[in-house]
Amino acid sequence: MKRIADSFPNIPEKIAELADLAYNLWWSWHPSARMLFKFLNRIAWKESGHNPVQMLRELSRGTLNVASEQAEYLRHYDVVLARFHEEIQTKVCWFAANVADPSCLPVAYFSAEYGLHHSLPFYAGGLGFLAGDYVKECSDLGIPMVAVGFMYPEGYLLQKIRVDGWQDDIDEVLDRDAAPIRRVMTEKDEQLIVKVPFVDPPVYVAVWKVDVGRIPLYLMDTDIDMNDPWNRKISAHLYIGDIEQRLRQEMVLGIGGIAMLNALGIKHSVLHLNEGHPAFALLERIRERVAEGMKFQAAVEQVRATTVFTSHTPVPAGHDVFPFHFMDKYFSHCYPFLGLSRDNFLQLGIHPVDPSAGFNMTSLALGLSGYKNGVSRKHGEVTRRMWQPLWPDRKEEEVPIGHITNGIHVPTWIEPKMELLFNKYLGQNWLEDHDNPVIWKLIDDIPNAVLWPVHYWLKIKLINFIREQARIRWNNNKVNPVNVITGGVLLDPLALTIGFARRFASYKRAGLIFKNIERLAKILNNRWEPVQIIFAGKAHPSDDEGKRILQRIFSLAQDPSFGGRIAFVENYNEQLAQYMVHGVDLWLNNPIPPLEACGTSGMKASLNGVPQLSILDGWWLEGFNGKNGWAYEGKGDDRDAEPLYDILEREIVPLYYVLDEDGVPNGWTEVMKEAIKGTGAFFSSRRMAKAYALDYYQHAFRSV
Ligand SMILES: *Cc1c(COP(=O)(O)O)cnc(C)c1O
Repeated sequence: MKRIADSFPNIPEKIAELADLAYNLWWSWHPSARMLFKFLNRIAWKESGHNPVQMLRELSRGTLNVASEQAEYLRHYDVVLARFHEEIQTKVCWFAANVADPSCLPVAYFSAEYGLHHSLPFYAGGLGFLAGDYVKECSDLGIPMVAVGFMYPEGYLLQKIRVDGWQDDIDEVLDRDAAPIRRVMTEKDEQLIVKVPFVDPPVYVAVWKVDVGRIPLYLMDTDIDMNDPWNRKISAHLYIGDIEQRLRQEMVLGIGGIAMLNALGIKHSVLHLNEGHPAFALLERIRERVAEGMKFQAAVEQVRATTVFTSHTPVPAGHDVFPFHFMDKYFSHCYPFLGLSRDNFLQLGIHPVDPSAGFNMTSLALGLSGYKNGVSRKHGEVTRRMWQPLWPDRKEEEVPIGHITNGIHVPTWIEPKMELLFNKYLGQNWLEDHDNPVIWKLIDDIPNAVLWPVHYWLKIKLINFIREQARIRWNNNKVNPVNVITGGVLLDPLALTIGFARRFASYKRAGLIFKNIERLAKILNNRWEPVQIIFAGKAHPSDDEGKRILQRIFSLAQDPSFGGRIAFVENYNEQLAQYMVHGVDLWLNNPIPPLEACGTSGMKASLNGVPQLSILDGWWLEGFNGKNGWAYEGKGDDRDAEPLYDILEREIVPLYYVLDEDGVPNGWTEVMKEAIKGTGAFFSSRRMAKAYALDYYQHAFRSV
């Protein structure tokens, strides 16, 4: 058996288990484990982009030897590794105590994206972070799970903004050997390769693995020699635009995913589909059962009783629909095998309101899953209304789709300095018990004069980070000086700072605040009470409208009449998200309702004492309580800009700038505390994962 440490020839024996830690993302949500890497060499840590695998590869034997001879380092090492082994192996966990023996069957969680850490470019946005946070939480709670997804070698699209503000998308290919992922090896010491059923000529996937605490995430990679060039590109990047290739991508995710689990010896499980992309997994599960001799209808019942489907998309246009001729091309050989006519098969993916539109992945998933939900209370209602035609004899409120509101993984998104502060006032064990609402009442005990300087320090940290990025770009890429300014070098730590960072999808309306330029200029340029806005986010490469919105914001940021109070920071990713949700003063969110199914970035900000100003949509309908931020009803058109200015001018700016003699804005700090109190328990992925386990998994387990 090869040891993991063997892949790092420079590691001395005494600290060899750093290698195990490097390949388990557990380190990323435990600050003491992060420090273990950082202590080795701060500069190498930073330059690796906080990727311990890359760092351990590059550090010299000398540097590693020095650490392995330091008594203090070794003590820290022993403590962290003991905790790591304990948490990974223990049988004592919430799931065991409350649901079932974790050695019962696993949940197979399928998602097209995972946002786990910026060293793994396997995400586009909120859906991915939801999945990543959820898997981490399931590990913490001991929910038995295997996760399935793609290894996107070209998942990183570097965003470069030209001087005219247009977004250029630059492919950056992942260095697989430097990423914290490992090949899954066979007994013959070769990488496991699995053939995807159905597709002809055949497609093969190479299997990779990332450990996320206790949970293995298996990733499929089609970029291997055995595949022809078209097939190699199937897993190149997320959400391929070409419809046939997209169909093939989803076939590999769903059907290949099931085949991969079989090859790994995982034959029985509860299936949880995160969004419709992997829904072909249902067909494969039915096909397997029919192959074993079950009748089609019995197979459907069995698959249904063991499947959870979570929908995230509140508009009909957001669901994947494939033309019937492509369905015929790839699936016609299995119609008779399943004992179905062509019509009966295609019926599985019909939306009754528009039956000729094509094969709808959400229809498929809703029809074949026994447990179905939306991702916030409002989104549950919207989903029931949208899909009521699938249950023509039921009233809207009787449609069997529930909701479980999304949450964030608190250990991932709490800033370490805030965590230390909470340790002091909420008790050392608050993190263990963070979904208990009672402990959050203790936030009131934090004196304003203690909370405020921590926040201010985080704001400085954000601004320093932004300046450093701008300096690097100026230095390395020789960008135009105007772009250096636009990148945020003129940001002022004393000014009220608004953050707007998310994908540049049109419905999120990054440009809404620019509706009335004069009014905005007056707010930003107020001499005594200045306001500044930091934008970040990528437009999808094929989304020209999103790129135009971005371009407009960028050109306004270049406009001297705003005096550098608008910044656009390139290349939004997990790392920049962390700095922003920790360090701005106010989080802004103004989607077209009800298109924000839930939203999570506002939760990340609120948890760290950054209240949000948001249109009432998604989670904010449940989260806003009148004290923990600001809210207004959106109409969905340009008129939504007016209340935004009103609230800023009348409430937010004045409150922020009332300081006591020590410079503490007490009124503001009270809102910060309410934001924290209103988020930590309910909007955690812990509350969410417990709900999935209790409401769905434990029932579904009985039918496997
Ligand atoms: C949390 C997060 C998102 C989701 O943001 P929303 O505003 O909820 O859509 C997207 N991208 C990154 C990097 C995130 O961390």
